[in-house]
Amino acid sequence: MAMIDLHCHILPNVDDGAGNMETSLAMAKEAVTQGITHILCTPHHNNGRYDNSKATVIPAVALLQAELDKQQIDLTLFEGQEVRITGDLLQEIKDDRILFTDLSNTYLLIELPTMDIPAYTEELFFELRTQGKVPVIVHPERNAKFREDPNRLLPYLEMGCLAQLTAPSLVGTFGKSIQKTAQEMVDHHLVQMVASDAHGVNKRRFHLKEAYELMENEKAELMQQVAKDIINGDEVSYPSPEKVKKKKFGLF
Ligand code: FE
Repeated sequence: MAMIDLHCHILPNVDDGAGNMETSLAMAKEAVTQGITHILCTPHHNNGRYDNSKATVIPAVALLQAELDKQQIDLTLFEGQEVRITGDLLQEIKDDRILFTDLSNTYLLIELPTMDIPAYTEELFFELRTQGKVPVIVHPERNAKFREDPNRLLPYLEMGCLAQLTAPSLVGTFGKSIQKTAQEMVDHHLVQMVASDAHGVNKRRFHLKEAYELMENEKAELMQQVAKDIINGDEVSYPSPEKVKKKKFGLF
């Protein structure tokens, strides 16, 4: 059965992920032991440190795929990006510098700053939705504002955006607070898919298999279907998000 990882920094020497081909291959082998069959390669783009436009990602993916084939590592790579939100995104799409997750250019992975949701986010996402594009907000559980109040995702989800959980967050790699938020987001359908965001084989590993194992079977299957739909450019169907109720203080 196919298992797709929708977010992975496996390309060698393009960002803070794999530093060289050797690490990329080690990551690929670990992915295979996780049961992963397909990886969307998503180097950072426009995050202030790294710029990996479409024209540079495509040959880099081809190069790594050729090496995997040579080494007989049974893994299929797709071209993608983790795009940091900027005011230039619409222009960058027009200029063909952005890679979507699917060949019909529907879904794109968008990263918000760690501490903030920029004021222009809602307007930008609305414009993308108007163009038939679907922003996928990556690791909302690691953004300070969404962690403070996961219900801040609701307006974006109601607009037709999606959100992607990072597997290690659910497993507990980033600590108890992020783990709790991750679980809350899964329980309330505030995230519709999970991906590794793996950066290497020492720190920031895959943990995708473990994350799926922590979920009820039914939810894990739903999320795996979403991953396929995102790659195929098909419409996603997932239960509607539910508001997280604030816990009341008190003993009873
Ligand atoms: Fe990432």
